[in-house]
Amino acid sequence: MPILDENIESFNPREIESDKDIETLVRPQEFDQFSGQDKVVENLKVFVKAAKLRGESLDHTLLFGPPGLGKTTLATIIANELGVDMKITSGPILDKPGDLAGLLTSLEAGDVLFIDEIHRLPKIVEEYLYSAMEDYRIDIMIDKGPGARSVQISLNPFTLIGATTRSGLLSSPLRARFGINSHLEYYNTSTLQQIINRSAKILNIKIDSKASYEVALRSRGTPRIANSLLRRVRDFAQVKGNGDIDLDITRYALDALNIDKRGLDMMDNKILSTIINKFKGGPVGINTIATAVGEDAGTIEEVYEPFLIKEGYIKRTPRGREVTELTYKHLGINIYKDPYLF
Ligand code: ADP
Repeated sequence: MPILDENIESFNPREIESDKDIETLVRPQEFDQFSGQDKVVENLKVFVKAAKLRGESLDHTLLFGPPGLGKTTLATIIANELGVDMKITSGPILDKPGDLAGLLTSLEAGDVLFIDEIHRLPKIVEEYLYSAMEDYRIDIMIDKGPGARSVQISLNPFTLIGATTRSGLLSSPLRARFGINSHLEYYNTSTLQQIINRSAKILNIKIDSKASYEVALRSRGTPRIANSLLRRVRDFAQVKGNGDIDLDITRYALDALNIDKRGLDMMDNKILSTIINKFKGGPVGINTIATAVGEDAGTIEEVYEPFLIKEGYIKRTPRGREVTELTYKHLGINIYKDPYLF
């Protein structure tokens, strides 16, 4: 049975602070610099072009997909290609209708308002958004008690771009107000390799093609993780080698970072081995798994599970999550003979 040492400080490629600097440097600014998601990009190009031809603002757009797949990047590109400014905020930050009103009234004609994690918008703020999206106006209550009255404010036409990792949590009135819906998928290895090579060039990192392929393989289908791993592998190359990245130093670095050959990290493997060791392979509910591994259930559902499902390690059934034969194989556990099971 594989032993997962709880005491090893786990490297989490999603949480490295300095990645923020990298992200700014390497974030594509135009459609042509954005790799993959071909269908989504082709459609968005058409919609942007049509809006520009008509001199109108682009329809409100909803971008859906797990973290790090390029939602913020696409919103930035859309605003750039439209030649307008973009204001960025996020669902949980907008906790008062007044904050939203302030943002909306500051938008110039055609500007983009990007709301990340739009599924976490408080209900009361969300309701203000409806008339803003539909009729470009908001009704604001002034004063309280008997003197209270509602004042209508007209807004410039604008485009709302909402990003969400959980489209299922979006209310139907809000969802219905988006004219464009784009669903981002995990990236394949060769697209991730292109992204890594582009980032390496921008950051002046020498990496050979076998090494960039290996990083791509282990990036969980996610450009943000690919960029983050590139940076970490460079650290190893500088300290343990001559600074250039080849396959050997890449493997050494990724193993040291506990990223396994299929790109799963410590938490992925902990989730899988917990389902097997504590719950006989499932089915088991998401909240029970979350408690057992000490992680938030929402995070497991948004961040970890989609990739584990996509790669075939977990199945969702009406009675809960189950691991598959592939999971036993991956963890080196004999599904029939292991004495620790059953
Ligand atoms: P999200 O908003 O979906 O969490 P981001 O748009 O912030 O993800 O993307 C994370 C990082 O990954 C960005 O800094 C960007 O550099 C990179 N990235 C994302 N998608 C692509 C892509 N298709 N091509 C190149 N780089 C990308």
